Amino acid sequence: MKILVVGSGGREHAIVRKLKESPKVTELYCANGNGGIAADAVCIPILPSNLDEIVDFAVEKAIDLVFVAPDDPLVAGLVDRLEAKGIKAFGPRANAAIIEGSKVFSKALMKNYGIPTAAYEQFDNAADAIEYLTCKGQFPVVIKADGLALGKGVIIAQNLQQATDGVRSIMEDKIFGASGNHIVVEEYLTGPEVSVLAFTDGKCIRPMVSAMDHKRALDGDKGLNTGGMGTIAPNPHYTWAVAQECMEKIYLPTINAMSKEGRPFKGCLFFGLMLTPKGPTVIEYNCRFGDPETQVVLPLLKTDLLEIVLAVCDGHLADIDIEWRNGAAACVVMASGGYPQKYETGCKITGLGSDGQIADAVVYHAGTALSDDGYKTSGGRVLGITATAASLEIALQKVYKAAETIRFNGAQYRKDIGKQAVK
Ligand code: ATP
Repeated sequence: MKILVVGSGGREHAIVRKLKESPKVTELYCANGNGGIAADAVCIPILPSNLDEIVDFAVEKAIDLVFVAPDDPLVAGLVDRLEAKGIKAFGPRANAAIIEGSKVFSKALMKNYGIPTAAYEQFDNAADAIEYLTCKGQFPVVIKADGLALGKGVIIAQNLQQATDGVRSIMEDKIFGASGNHIVVEEYLTGPEVSVLAFTDGKCIRPMVSAMDHKRALDGDKGLNTGGMGTIAPNPHYTWAVAQECMEKIYLPTINAMSKEGRPFKGCLFFGLMLTPKGPTVIEYNCRFGDPETQVVLPLLKTDLLEIVLAVCDGHLADIDIEWRNGAAACVVMASGGYPQKYETGCKITGLGSDGQIADAVVYHAGTALSDDGYKTSGGRVLGITATAASLEIALQKVYKAAETIRFNGAQYRKDIGKQAVK
């Protein structure tokens, strides 16, 4: 089969490498990919945001399946456009991708169908929001832009001043553009966080191995929020009993609610959960594989990913068995100096083989470019070094040993990924 993966980060590299293991794959393309993905797939210079050209390419090459990985093209309706041309596509249609594309939508869905989530109010103007925050006078409080904001649309305000500044920056200064036309003001919750990705064809839902993200830039969960600095799987907080409760109160009610709303969800549904004293609660939904969760979840998948993806697209997910490897996986993200703020690109990376890999670990490339002079940095998050092992301790040892052999100017990575989980 001819497969096209849409996207260009570490998540897409993990997807490409997993799909490549399938005996059914004959040609593998990635739009637009990156320096490291180029060793595993044919990278084509079409940006994931260029829906017209992606559709044209898929038609021209008679692609059998397009795997749409990032949120933006899903929310913009790439799957609808491909299906209209008779091309099979993995991912939700736009009317279901809204579960991530609009927090106003997802919060109302959860409220209407009794799915546990933080109490909230929504606003379409700054004055009303500020008046509410002033009267309520309860802090910390969480302020969220309605639309997509590159994972940066959440402000945790410790007092009224921070809350007022946050509301104004989102709704008046429009730091996230039209994504800030509406906001959600949410109750602040506490508890361990768990990421659960799930395959679903809209009727059946099959959760994958759970994961734990490390969002802050610096050790000890300090510094700014990032796209994710490292992950481990499975997440030790996610016990069998928690998983059962989530299936009953969150996963099945969510896909059933989406179907009832006439928005059946097929693809990968990501549940950002918080295990609060009152039970598992939804912090957010994403309409796609998470980054860097995918980098630890897919290496533990035993079953052919392509078989699962085809079952999702064809609506018979219930008919297949999905098997997982025992043991654990860890991923440490090497980022450019200064990330998530200003950083330099074009720095030469040493320590990688000509295929962009190293011994004893897998390197998922995120922000790299390949030049005559070898691999160079081209983004904030550069590499995701990943290992699997019988235990999390050993996986982490392998990852950190491997990380020491890779160098580029300004390289930074957290030294405490998985530390709390090991404890
Ligand atoms: P991304 O898509 O990158 O995961 P996002 O911008 O959609 O992020 P959320 O996942 O909703 O944002 O929130 C980001 C982080 O903010 C969460 O991982 C959590 O740590 C914190 N957070 C969000 N909502 C709450 C809440 N109600 N109470 C406490 N913390 C929260």
